[in-house]
Parts: sequence; structure tokens; C-alpha cells
Amino acid sequence: MSSGRSNVIILLGPPGAGKGTIASDLVDRYEMTTVSTGNILRSAMKRQTELGKKAKSYMDAGSLVPDEIVLELLVSHISQMDLSRNLILDGYPRNVAQARSLSTLLGKLGIPLGLVANVEVDDSELIERILSRRTCSKSDCQAVYNTRYSPTKQPGICDRCQSPLITRSDETEEVIQHRLRVYQEQTQPLLSHYKSTNLLRHYSHKDSSVIADLVAKDVEKINVEI
Ligand SMILES: [Zn+2]
Repeated sequence: MSSGRSNVIILLGPPGAGKGTIASDLVDRYEMTTVSTGNILRSAMKRQTELGKKAKSYMDAGSLVPDEIVLELLVSHISQMDLSRNLILDGYPRNVAQARSLSTLLGKLGIPLGLVANVEVDDSELIERILSRRTCSKSDCQAVYNTRYSPTKQPGICDRCQSPLITRSDETEEVIQHRLRVYQEQTQPLLSHYKSTNLLRHYSHKDSSVIADLVAKDVEKINVEI
């Protein structure tokens, strides 16, 4: 369903909403490309590019990498990409300031922002999902399972390496609830910002592949309208 012209799709959703799964589904089944600022940062640091070195100096000092650097990395990454595909931005922007810089950047690159897809999941459901996560205890495996959605063949034992599974100690109900509150506080202004641009759509479904289908359908509509 390549339209020959790319749009940017921003994927928003709380931790545990399955954004990663939805994004990889859109990549596999609808020929889109994911742009993850986390991955771009890591790769620039690994390749020791000028920007990568700058970013690393902030991280080594224990501070956040400034927005301008992340944005510069994003520009150089996107300008080298195959722009016949739709681009999914996962994990960016996180606040209104970043949203504004992003739209300036996309304007310069001539790529329209087509859709802001907000994945909604009830807090109680999110908490249950995160609490049913299990991780392999072997440090060089760390496979992730979910006792509800992707259980192992033998309960409590990793399918890949047969080591015992553990629950992450930082994922208690209180910690998750706090993380969700912080997410809501940060995201509310972002949602209001995008609501005014008329690009915001909300998606809510237990099955992330259904959400991927709905998002793809809406992206198709934009391409027709443009
Ligand atoms: Zn394992």
C-alpha cells in the first residue's frame, strides 16, 4: 500500500500499551518504517559521529541529551531515509516544545505530519499487563514473556535457554501507577496541542494487531485526501 509519498505518523500511548508491537506490525504488514529516537541516539554513539559524541558527553554526565541534539540527529537520519514509505515516530515528541520543533523540522524536509495515533488502555488493564511480564534471568538472554499474552511452554522457564524467569523488581503496582500518572501529566498538554491540529485520533482495542489495522486504514485515508 505504498502511496509513493510519505507521511509521518506519531504513535502515542502509555507504557504497556503495546506501541512497540503495533509499530512492528505496521512495518511488517503495511510497509512502514519506524523511527526511534532511542535507537538513532544509540547508533550515533556507537558509530562515534560528532553528534553521537556530543550526546554521549551528556549521558556520561548523567544528564538528558538536549532536544536540539536529538532533533539534529533526527534530521540527519530522516534525510537519509527512503521517503516513499510512511514513517512511524515512536517515543517522540514527548512534550509540546518537542512537538513544535518537530513540525518545523518536518516543514523543512517537506514531509507532512499525517496522523497522531493515541493508543488508549485503561490503567487497570495496563497494570495487569505489566505485572504479568516475565523476563529470563540469564543476563545474555533476557527474553521477555507475558503470562497472559505470550506464555512460555513450561511455566516459569525460558523457551530459548531454559533458565528461570523473574519479575522485574522495579515493576511493582505502586511504581507502575506512579509511572502512569507521570505519563498522563506529560502527555495531556501534547494531546491538547495535537487536538487543535485536527490530526489526533484515539484507538482502543485489546488486540494490538486490530489497532495496527485501524491506524493503517486512517493513514490510507490521508493519502487519498492528499
Ligand atoms: Zn532465556
